[in-house]
Amino acid sequence: MLERFQFKKTPAPAIANPEMTPPGELMPENLQEKIKAKGEQIFNAMESEGGSIFNKDWWYGKIMDWSMKNEQFKTQMFRFVDVLPSLQSSAEVSRHMKEYFSEGGEDIPSIFNMGLGLGSLAPGLMAGAVKKNVTEMARMFITGESGQDALSVLKKSRKNKIAFTADLLGEACLSENEADIYQKTYLDLISHLAQDSQKWDAIPQIDEDFFGALPKVNVSVKLSSLYSQIDVKAWDHSKEKLKERLRSIFNLAIEKNCFVNLDMEQYELKDITLAVFKDLIMEPAYKNYPHWGVVVQAYLKDSLNDVKMLADFARARGVPFTIRLVKGAYWDFETIHAAQQQWPVPVYTIKAESDVNYEDCAEHLLKNAKFIKLAIGSHNVRSVAACMVMAEKYGVDPRAYEIQMLYGMADPIKKALVKMGARVREYAPIGDLLPGMAYLVRRLLENTSNESFLRSKFAENMSTETLLRDPREVVKLAKAKIPLQVVDDKFKNEALLDFGIQAHQENLLKALQTLKASLGKDYPLYINGREVTTNKWLESKNPSEPSQVIGRVAVASTQEAEQAMQAAVQSLPSLKNLSAKARSEILDKVADIFARDRMKLIALEILEAGKTWEEADGDIAEAIDFCRYYAKDMLRIDRPQAMGNVPGETSFYTYQAKGVSVVIAPWNFPLAILTGMVAGSFVTGNTVVMKPAEQTPIIAYFLMKAFAEAGAPQGSVNLIQGYGEEVGEYLTSHKSTALICFTGSKAVGLHIMNKVGQIQPGQKSVKRVICEMGGKNAVIIDNDADLDEAVGGVLYSAFGYQGQKCSAASRVIVLEEAYPRFVERLVEAAKSFKVAASEDPSAYMGPVIDDEAQTRILKMIEQAKSECQLAFQGKVPAQGYFVPPTIFVDCKADARIAQDEIFGPVLAVIKAKNIDDALAIANGTEYALTGGLFSRSPANIEKVKAQFEVGNLYINHGITGAMVERHPFGGFKMSGLGSKTGGPDYLIQFMDPKVVTENTLRRGFAPAEE
Ligand SMILES: Cc1cc2nc3c(=O)[nH]c(=O)nc-3n(C[C@H](O)[C@H](O)[C@H](O)COP(=O)(O)OP(=O)(O)OC[C@H]3O[C@@H](n4cnc5c(N)ncnc54)[C@H](O)[C@@H]3O)c2cc1C
Repeated sequence: MLERFQFKKTPAPAIANPEMTPPGELMPENLQEKIKAKGEQIFNAMESEGGSIFNKDWWYGKIMDWSMKNEQFKTQMFRFVDVLPSLQSSAEVSRHMKEYFSEGGEDIPSIFNMGLGLGSLAPGLMAGAVKKNVTEMARMFITGESGQDALSVLKKSRKNKIAFTADLLGEACLSENEADIYQKTYLDLISHLAQDSQKWDAIPQIDEDFFGALPKVNVSVKLSSLYSQIDVKAWDHSKEKLKERLRSIFNLAIEKNCFVNLDMEQYELKDITLAVFKDLIMEPAYKNYPHWGVVVQAYLKDSLNDVKMLADFARARGVPFTIRLVKGAYWDFETIHAAQQQWPVPVYTIKAESDVNYEDCAEHLLKNAKFIKLAIGSHNVRSVAACMVMAEKYGVDPRAYEIQMLYGMADPIKKALVKMGARVREYAPIGDLLPGMAYLVRRLLENTSNESFLRSKFAENMSTETLLRDPREVVKLAKAKIPLQVVDDKFKNEALLDFGIQAHQENLLKALQTLKASLGKDYPLYINGREVTTNKWLESKNPSEPSQVIGRVAVASTQEAEQAMQAAVQSLPSLKNLSAKARSEILDKVADIFARDRMKLIALEILEAGKTWEEADGDIAEAIDFCRYYAKDMLRIDRPQAMGNVPGETSFYTYQAKGVSVVIAPWNFPLAILTGMVAGSFVTGNTVVMKPAEQTPIIAYFLMKAFAEAGAPQGSVNLIQGYGEEVGEYLTSHKSTALICFTGSKAVGLHIMNKVGQIQPGQKSVKRVICEMGGKNAVIIDNDADLDEAVGGVLYSAFGYQGQKCSAASRVIVLEEAYPRFVERLVEAAKSFKVAASEDPSAYMGPVIDDEAQTRILKMIEQAKSECQLAFQGKVPAQGYFVPPTIFVDCKADARIAQDEIFGPVLAVIKAKNIDDALAIANGTEYALTGGLFSRSPANIEKVKAQFEVGNLYINHGITGAMVERHPFGGFKMSGLGSKTGGPDYLIQFMDPKVVTENTLRRGFAPAEE
């Protein structure tokens, strides 16, 4: 069968091989002149065709015009377009229009004024008219809702000598069910188009290339839609799953003579997309077929290297394939995402750099035209003209490349190029309006971007000279204007590791191996600068594999607890003698030690706490952040604050340490929470006795070692291991304890608070308690929520680290209209993720912490079955402390499962009538820790901001993963007492304020400057 597709090895176009324009230099003048001439030729051909892409007589043209003039309107308009398809009634459309556009009166375009009661149309009718107009606008960019729908559009384009590549729009793929549907839709689309194409006349200009006949049917596929659990750190697993789903599409493509292109999405998926593409097209079934393609995004700094790698690969393969060269559609996302993660920005940040790189990539591809076919994916006449001229320069036959543009964009340019004899192909999206809106918004943004060629040409009428200038010149000018970077000393969060980077994966695997080779060691206590062992030992086990003992720690009795207490009391003066600066420097050193030992600590958390890779890394990064943030903040607080302003008197507000701080920490953030409380105590000048959780004692040992290595004075930080009821109780009740920092359950927290009121003989001060307890956190899903975002956000908030975070979502309150679809997608998504040993890079969820937790949670699940409807219970490995991810639906707001803290992977879904009802349910527990809302209604967002009783509220965002300084963390009601960790008020709680007022007047004389 493959014979039919055997690649015809026709003589290759002649290829010279001069070098590209060296970086930083302008293009040789003669080449630039030729490009200018070619560009002018295209513009002239356009003029004779007429037409504009922003015709202001049309609704779309008006909207574009407004958007380009008014940034705020643009944001509101595009957000409104985004939410529109999810609005079920005219009343909802009207309400949203008011919420989005009524502010700032005169800025509302007349088309909206009428709908807001200022014109003649009733709001309901106006809403209908607006919805119709937006739908029309979407139709400008989307060829049809189904393959059948799109056919007439595609055939019409073919008549105009424009070929197509069909793309299926879809919601974000959250489950394997959705991936299956996507795959099947593709198969149906290929069959459908292929069958119809048999009746299509061949049009040589678009149906042939330099090498021979081309398939008339051409489709573009997005990998992210074919597998819901792509995880680049589970590289082989993800690659296999993707290849598996692609093979049926590839097989059908060969059978039906269809071209398949793999689109390129976010940077995170770039390498895996290229790897899947290369692997597949080398498989025997596909190796000789020339109609495969992949995309390179020239805005990526990596892209020229990728082009070179692909050219070498193509040479080795022998049968050409296509590379669609584009600049890239995710520029805003990539820059924002990189900034949020504090990762290097993968894209160029000067627009003209992307243009230059586009030309460089194109040049390399054209030099290799014998092995690779170039598809020039650009609406920019300069970019297209440059490629055409370079093709001439290298003697590449014009039929050896094609020019691709998006459907609905740059039609005058397409027509001009067709007239000039080029092969032009349109990227033709097909699909429903709902996912179509995301696509539409991307196109609107692209058209109105300040950097857009189309905007410059068609809206701003920029001169041909400027439009066609060498982008290298623009880069030079732009770089000359960039101000020198000022180094600031503001706090910055430690970046999380990107496990997509192979070196990180390898280093962690190595660290895991090393740790496993040294399991079972003994770890002592640390008192007064010395290691102390006892004759009682506690085993720390791997919750994924309880037979694996990570190590043994010495268990303290009250005797060692007393020794630690004495050491802490005695070392108070030496810590007091250290300046705040010196204490801060010690914290910075601790942070450096954590950073140095990062892989070792991650590996330890994976095995000891049952954290998955990212969760473990997040905990180490947060511990580093606490040290660095508190170190910096102490310097701020240490500056005496001058109070009042009268002559003859000075008055200064200062803080001083309280004394000995007893730190009692939980196991769920075994390094971060413990570090936060120890660091907070230490940097403010309090000496510390810490008692970590019994489940994660070895991580605590490494924290102790880090303080010792960083130079904490002898006895200023002490480590006691053992049981809360025994040593914990002893330490908190001790007469010398000035401060108790506790994070853990409500029961223990309240017990401690109850006990601190009982004054011990010899006790000199009232103890202060900084206490963080639990939550019963809820996420509200509004009717107009973006479910792509909401489902993913809720899922991770509920099941990340097995729901064992005090911030975890354990209730989701969904408004009636959104309820069925949300529940369906949530359950399907939950079915698709993997529960496995934490060490497994493809695990989404690992085990719970110990057998006690496992038994308790399983019992609560059993009880809940009589109260609520069980919608989903996942599968778990047989060994280990696993609890299946569980979702209950139709829960009553007062059901136990909706009231009691579970601290496990159990989610209760509750239906609410409206936003007020949802808020009442959300506030109807004794806790107030974290909460979330997914909504696209500005009014509902404001209402929830004002009325949701939580310490940390997240809008359109998951509710876990608070970051130091960005999201200071902590709650109230029964969730805790004290100021937020990682925030500006935190350290103050560890100290007593002191004001010193001095009369500076002596016999009527006072110093001039006070
Ligand atoms: C047929 C076709 C298929 C496509 N397929 C894909 C695909 O699979 N994956 C994908 O990601 N894109 C794809 N695109 C590209 C994308 O959708 C845009 O159309 C394209 O990037 C616009 O570039 P341009 O040359 O037409 O316009 P221009 O106006 O010249 O360039 C705009 C582009 O410049 C880049 N840019 C904007 N601001 C900056 C800045 N400050 N610094 C650096 N660069 C900047 C961005 O990439 C932006 O899109 C495709 C485009 C076409 C035509």
